[in-house]
Amino acid sequence: EAFNAAVAAAKPLNAFIVETPEHALAAADKVDQARAAGETLPSMAGVPIGMKDLFCTNGVQTTAASHILEGFKPEYESTVSQKLWDAGAGMLGKLNLDQFAMGSSNETSYFGNVVSPWRRNDGGNAPLAPGGSSGGSAAVVAGRIAPGATGTDTGGSIRQPAAFVGISGIKPTYGRCSRWGTIAFASSLDQAGPMARDVRDCAIMLEAMSGFDAKDATSLDVPVPQWEAGLNASMAGKRVGIPREYRVDNMPEEIEALWQQGIAWMKDAGAEIVEVSLPHTRYALPAYYIIAPAEASSNLARYDGVRYGQRDLPEAANLQDMYAATRAAGFGDEVKRRILIGTYVLSAGFYDAYFTQASKVRALIAQDFERAWERCDVLLTPTAPSAAFALGEKSADPLAMYLNDVFTVPSSLAGLPAMSVPGGLDKAGLPLGLQVIGRALDEQGVLNAALAIE
Ligand code: GLN
Repeated sequence: EAFNAAVAAAKPLNAFIVETPEHALAAADKVDQARAAGETLPSMAGVPIGMKDLFCTNGVQTTAASHILEGFKPEYESTVSQKLWDAGAGMLGKLNLDQFAMGSSNETSYFGNVVSPWRRNDGGNAPLAPGGSSGGSAAVVAGRIAPGATGTDTGGSIRQPAAFVGISGIKPTYGRCSRWGTIAFASSLDQAGPMARDVRDCAIMLEAMSGFDAKDATSLDVPVPQWEAGLNASMAGKRVGIPREYRVDNMPEEIEALWQQGIAWMKDAGAEIVEVSLPHTRYALPAYYIIAPAEASSNLARYDGVRYGQRDLPEAANLQDMYAATRAAGFGDEVKRRILIGTYVLSAGFYDAYFTQASKVRALIAQDFERAWERCDVLLTPTAPSAAFALGEKSADPLAMYLNDVFTVPSSLAGLPAMSVPGGLDKAGLPLGLQVIGRALDEQGVLNAALAIE
């Protein structure tokens, strides 16, 4: 009954692509059995969560919100989802997202956009974007339909939607969570992470999701700390860096005010505030929008109408026509745009001018952060340059959409852990997020600074 009520509440949000009540109920049954047998319960025993539809789930349709994968039922379970089931969690369903995780508003999904559960309080009644690409995850947590959901973050897709709907979300250090069985977008950037109501829930869920996996060559072979047990909201003895280059042109007043409020909270918690410089920040977006499409164009070559999901023109005269027809019908416009950009920047004549150059910029950005860590322990910035925008407001202008990632992309390029935590409301009553960025593998420092804000 509770499940049916939750599903009914979720309908107008369009957050689920597939519902799996039996999976969540089986996890609940296991709790009863374990209790009856006097066993100790695992960390997420019986917790019903939402699963972004980018994680392969055994026997359950997995689409990446793309027509090309409609009907695809993997015969394997992603490492991250398996770890969550091992920790006792159950799945309410597969959640909507931007197609192949490409987007910042959830409007590129083949299954229609997700609607944010929030509304402006100043009379503007237009439905709002939940952020993206993990828009379904953001909506079910903010809408109190699930206590937690998985997200993935390539350039901000956990943090920006978390900020838009007033919840918390952390992208761990690149390599913390296995990418095995997660549909690839840009392999050198993709990281899974939790989205939940508060910092503690994120810590519990991240602990369950993390850990070395021999099936992912970039998985980090390091122990998973007990982040929940290590939570501590005191910032005494910690230095919080404020990167001056994040004060971008035309930054709305309320974002600046939010940032100042965050700084005040950090001081209250005992932190010392230091100004730092990340000089290559303004090259991060252009570098990201070369590297991510380049890797995507390579990763998406596997969707050929033979191995997965949809096939168009089954009676085609030749293989080439079948490939072309399948890909033309199967991929959405934004995905095609990325494939075109990616193949262009990787082509023989332009490789050095674009891809090599962007890779060099990426190294400089990582170096900026390394220098900053000589002066501070964590960095504090806004998560996004605006509150949630209306659905449709930016969908015709890809550049305006890309600009929304300005604060989240640099730490992605550097592979660093970064978290968004609610920081207050704007004039229209919409949530705004503050971002904490930490040193590689210092998720504890990031979680603790976020806790000081919460
Ligand atoms: N909005 C960014 C993009 O479209 C980031 C997406 C993501 O992190 N998956 O590429």
